[in-house]
Amino acid sequence: MIFNDMQYERPDFDALLAAYDELIACADSAKNAEEGAKILNRHNSLMIPVGQMLSLASIRHSINTTNEFYLAEEEYYAQNSPILDEKISVFYAAILKWSFIPELQPQFTKVFFTNAEMETKTISPSVISLMEKENLLCMDYDKLQGSAQIEFEGNTLNLAQLGAFKDNACRETRQKAYTAEAGFYDAHRTEFEQIFDNLVKTRTEIAHALGFKSFTELGYLRMTRNCYSAEDVEIFRGEIAKTIVPIVAEMKKQQALRIDVADFKFYDDALIKLGGNPKPHGSQDDTYRAGVEMYKEMNADTREFITKMDEMKLFDLKAMPGKMTGGYCAQLAEYKMPFIFANFNGSSHDVDVFTHEGGHAFAGYIASKTAPLLECTAPTLEGCEVHSMSMEFLCWKFLEKFYGDDANSARAVHLTSALYFLPYGCMVDEFQHIVYANPEFTPAQRNEKWLELEHKYRPWMDYANAPMFSRGAGWQRQIHIYSSPFYYIDYCLAQAVALQIFAIMQTQGHDAAWSKYMDYTILGGSKTFIELLDFAGLRNPMEKGSLDEIAAAVADYLATHASDLN
Ligand code: ZN
Repeated sequence: MIFNDMQYERPDFDALLAAYDELIACADSAKNAEEGAKILNRHNSLMIPVGQMLSLASIRHSINTTNEFYLAEEEYYAQNSPILDEKISVFYAAILKWSFIPELQPQFTKVFFTNAEMETKTISPSVISLMEKENLLCMDYDKLQGSAQIEFEGNTLNLAQLGAFKDNACRETRQKAYTAEAGFYDAHRTEFEQIFDNLVKTRTEIAHALGFKSFTELGYLRMTRNCYSAEDVEIFRGEIAKTIVPIVAEMKKQQALRIDVADFKFYDDALIKLGGNPKPHGSQDDTYRAGVEMYKEMNADTREFITKMDEMKLFDLKAMPGKMTGGYCAQLAEYKMPFIFANFNGSSHDVDVFTHEGGHAFAGYIASKTAPLLECTAPTLEGCEVHSMSMEFLCWKFLEKFYGDDANSARAVHLTSALYFLPYGCMVDEFQHIVYANPEFTPAQRNEKWLELEHKYRPWMDYANAPMFSRGAGWQRQIHIYSSPFYYIDYCLAQAVALQIFAIMQTQGHDAAWSKYMDYTILGGSKTFIELLDFAGLRNPMEKGSLDEIAAAVADYLATHASDLN
């Protein structure tokens, strides 16, 4: 079976809701663990085809947002999936009453029940229409971003294609790329501001209706934060501000010297290496083939995984007009296979996407083999980002395949960017905490806060009088702020873990790092994030002082490989 031949059919929601009514009645009268197990297995067999069809519709819509059929399907799901979610939450509530849950935990995992309980708090019939509204607003943002047709140096580009010019070796080109991007956001300023304002108010209304003080509490439940709190995250951000920001500030001074600019500006930020960041040497097709070859060589597990992905054509990588921006990995539940979506643009981003989404795909593939329920195929999202961000480092051994003799430069640039990312990610997270604590803020007040956070986390960013950016509206480009509230810190937590894998790779070699990675990955979604870390012998990044070691490992590598950035 190849992806294009997979049949799509809209699930019959009425039949599904009726099936769940029956299942809820069975759950209410279940007497023992044996009956309980049957009910959970039946739930799983109902969810697999739904998961498959939701994924197919969403992937095909993102491949071509102008396809009317899948657009209509996406709108249908945006409107109807909250009804199904609510029904599943009632089902969860019914099973949570079982006295024999402890007997089911060995098979279905303890964390499944913990997460189910959190889920039941995130929805009720009274908020369904508001959730539909929220979903449609997120779609409005996607549509607006996807509509970008930006004239740039004689070509019409979407936002992803334009992004390739932001680390161009020519300073004027970089600046123009940012100006062109700002031009698009400014032309749609009112729409972007209104969509977000509506989202904040709608989410706050949902939170109040569910009995929460603000959306933040609900946001944490929606992210299934089952092993840490907002206070832990605050400690983590504090550690980043204290330990990482000063290191990055120093690195930025060196970067300015290296790329030979006396007045470092925000449009110099992405150019880590004079002459331009390394690019994959071959065509986009070559990058794809190198990626397949890499996973074939890495080890037997990755070979099996990539061979199936390649045979089933589970990739859509090239940037095309009408295609949604960004990159992601989705699961095709009926085939227990992942799908990778990206927007190749000829930059190192293509390799990053391949190795990063490849990590998600590999982890999903491994976990699907043994997961007792769809809910257990993956841990919470910071746990999943460990799969992908660690894989980016585990791919270092093979970078010559993509970059030839620029591979050492590519490694140093990747590591530098990994460290640079942490302050930005924390800024996005702190911004969202402020936004949802103050839902009455005007767009201008939100921008003002964003600028304050820029000073705290990225004091080297000089926006001068640049359109959009200088008034603090740069956050509007970050899709997660619109569509996935409180998701962003997950990348930072995961990066702090991935850098531990990097440190092990430096001191003990690739194989030792791989084995640690597998200790963590093989458990799929059967444990909480912190339990996974404990099991694999990795440190919880939210503990005070936990970043010191990785900061030292990175500084050490970059000091001994300084010439790779010249
Ligand atoms: Zn990811």
